[in-house]
Amino acid sequence: MKKLLIATHNTGKLREYTQLLADLEIELLSPIDIGMDSVQVEETGDTFEENARLKALTYAQASGLPTLADDSGLEVDALDGRPGVHSARYAGPDATDEDRRRKLLAEMRDVPPGRRSARFRCAVALALPDGRVWTADGVCEGEIAFEPRGKGGFGYDPLFIVSGDGRTMAEMAPDEKNLISHRGRALRAAMPLLKDVLGI
Ligand code: IMP
Repeated sequence: MKKLLIATHNTGKLREYTQLLADLEIELLSPIDIGMDSVQVEETGDTFEENARLKALTYAQASGLPTLADDSGLEVDALDGRPGVHSARYAGPDATDEDRRRKLLAEMRDVPPGRRSARFRCAVALALPDGRVWTADGVCEGEIAFEPRGKGGFGYDPLFIVSGDGRTMAEMAPDEKNLISHRGRALRAAMPLLKDVLGI
């Protein structure tokens, strides 16, 4: 069976990719499965796409395996697009998801309903050990809640109310989130390419 490395240390992302790719005849591997759990890629790019490329290429060349990576984050209009590409480091290098949510709520405290629009963005990159890379992206529009709701998902999900639905991403079942999420959309856009490149 063809192998695909999912280059992330984020267990929330890994869970979602496992579900999104469940129908394909491929063996999914994580960095831990191949003893690469200590590899850290510095996200030096200015865009989600650059960082996704960087992660996918680094892992593909180090592992010798076709590799899928993503870079994603939350853009909040009232904060001029922050935390954006810095979503993971928004509250400092050692902060938890909870710390990041608390910081976001504090920054948004005085922003009234109707001015709380935001979007999740995701760029996925597929790289081969020979240096070839392909990318695709996905967006999900919504707004920032005044308090966390829901227990599902990860990261900013309890604070992100999905446009046209009214629930936060954390209130959705995993397959519901995958249908409308930035990550689900990016991966579905990349699917023909993924099948073609892997020959499946
Ligand atoms: P990175 O892509 O590893 O740089 O990190 C992206 C960060 O954005 C994560 O640590 C989360 O805080 C946030 N993020 C990305 N995708 C999601 C999502 O689907 N739900 C909630 N938060 C997300």
